[in-house]
Amino acid sequence: MKIDVLTLFPEMLDSLKHSLMGKALDKGLYQLNCHNIRDYSKDKHKKCDDTPFGGGAGMVMTPQPIHDCITAVDPEHKAKRIYMSPRGKVLNQSLVRELSNCENLLILCGHYEGIDQRVIDMDIDMEISIGDYVLSGGEIPAMVLIDSVLRYVPDVLGNADSTADESFSKPLLEYPQYTRPQEFLGVKVPDVLVSGNHAKINQWRAEQSLEITKKNRPDLLED
Ligand code: SAM
Repeated sequence: MKIDVLTLFPEMLDSLKHSLMGKALDKGLYQLNCHNIRDYSKDKHKKCDDTPFGGGAGMVMTPQPIHDCITAVDPEHKAKRIYMSPRGKVLNQSLVRELSNCENLLILCGHYEGIDQRVIDMDIDMEISIGDYVLSGGEIPAMVLIDSVLRYVPDVLGNADSTADESFSKPLLEYPQYTRPQEFLGVKVPDVLVSGNHAKINQWRAEQSLEITKKNRPDLLED
């Protein structure tokens, strides 16, 4: 998978160079190219924002540098072009899985009050939100999207079963997990997990998943 991120703050994406996503990058399992929108500004001071027509708080990102950056990075519109935006479709696991089938993603990060609507109408395929709250920029949402999608790219995770058995793989949250020591500060792990009886372990995990989902996310069961 090839991922192009368009941003005013490309260095923020450096966090993806660590841990699992960093290893996957080193192994060439995906390509990440960060493009600085400011490099495309035709303004003599490389300005990329201006006050909103009609008045109101804050600044809006101007269309020219964004449009030129998108056109230079994806001239034939081969990528799925996404604008990270609180107004977008809310990201969930089924959308993540769908996007993991794309060979090329172009992700546009906004800042300030957002971007000029004309560039969204002209150049963007889809707006995606990571939740019903507002962040100051699209870089963290872009990293959330990239990390969640790459977990479905073959060989990125050490164990391919990890995505099959975790929260949201079914409309359920994951059961509680325990590891060594068997007793910690006087609290033992549930007996069933050390019984060696896999049928009972699976049954216990299924019951726990259901209980946790009922308690924390009953909406998943309704769906
Ligand atoms: N004025 C905009 C509004 O009310 O919808 C919010 C702009 S926000 C301060 C600046 C940028 O952060 C947005 O252009 C977007 O790229 C990003 N952003 C903020 N919250 C987001 C969210 N929940 N999901 C995805 N992107 C978000």
